[in-house]
Amino acid sequence: MQINSTLGRVEKENAVLLIFTGGTISMSEDPANGALKPIDFDRLQEYMPELKRTGVKIKSIPFLPLIDSSDVDPALWERIATTIEENYEAYDGFVVLHGTDTMAYTASALSFMLENLAKPVILTGAQLPVGMLRSDAKENLLTAIEIATAKENGVALVPEVCIFFEDTLFRGNRTTKKNAEHFNAFNSYNYPALAKAGVHIKYFRTYIHYPTQGSALKVRTKVDRNVAILKLFPGITSHTVDAILNIPGLQAVVLETFGAGNAPRQFWFYDALKKATDKGILIVNKSQCGTGTVEMGRYETSLNLMSAGVMSGYDITTEAIVTKLMYLLGECANVQEVKRKLSISLCGEMTVG
Ligand code: ASP
Repeated sequence: MQINSTLGRVEKENAVLLIFTGGTISMSEDPANGALKPIDFDRLQEYMPELKRTGVKIKSIPFLPLIDSSDVDPALWERIATTIEENYEAYDGFVVLHGTDTMAYTASALSFMLENLAKPVILTGAQLPVGMLRSDAKENLLTAIEIATAKENGVALVPEVCIFFEDTLFRGNRTTKKNAEHFNAFNSYNYPALAKAGVHIKYFRTYIHYPTQGSALKVRTKVDRNVAILKLFPGITSHTVDAILNIPGLQAVVLETFGAGNAPRQFWFYDALKKATDKGILIVNKSQCGTGTVEMGRYETSLNLMSAGVMSGYDITTEAIVTKLMYLLGECANVQEVKRKLSISLCGEMTVG
């Protein structure tokens, strides 16, 4: 396939809104016990005088107190989405500074919440705090700002919710945190990179989604958190499966299966799933493998799942299916609409068919 690519330019007159939520990028060591904890927003700016040299008009909004992203919940996704909505006309792009631990969940949730997005929303962070000599914070942030302002003929080059880390730009709802130590913290196992940053930033337009011209941004932030993950392993007991499928108020389950979407063939397992789907609980089949797709019916071991009413999650990430379910359960008028939208890709989160 011919890949249509282009090199970006920094648009000096552009304006970027920086939304600070926290994460290692904004932490320093607590002298009392050596643990990393969030620092003041003012101190963060002191560490990055380069921000003034970008030529881009940057305004920042800190969400105080800055948090470790393990404390992120849907209220933060709503706050980011509405902040973008309120400031949408005034800025060319948005950069969200966020901890890496749950960044892929936030990027996925925002991709669903920001419908008809026509401007870049770039999430980034760092593996080492900004105040440390070898920190990756500056490069990540400065490149994210450049990407958020990149345009061709006045049109944003990457009008998507993305994660930029180390040297790669990923579609946000395709990413997973893969590394807790090295600077290349993220990967997108089932979708190609949208851009690579070296001497130049090279954008792969073939893989970037461009919205229909003229459709206005719609921000939808209602979520329903009654979602659970049921991860299979050899030897799992019926007590474990039943305990999860009978959680009071449960609306949907992400069933993490083996290989191409396979599961045990024992009757008790099928029966538990069937009883749950008969009660109206949605169950989505997501493979435990990072790369590849669920193929229901390829092996005998997934035929039972189909007859129990389990839906395919194709090649979606866990982060994207959890947030897609929360979003659809919160926003859709009825279960038919939820099911219909689960079986299609809403914003490039999965490859169907
Ligand atoms: N625990 C941190 C967080 O996710 C890790 C990081 O930022 O890299 O907030």
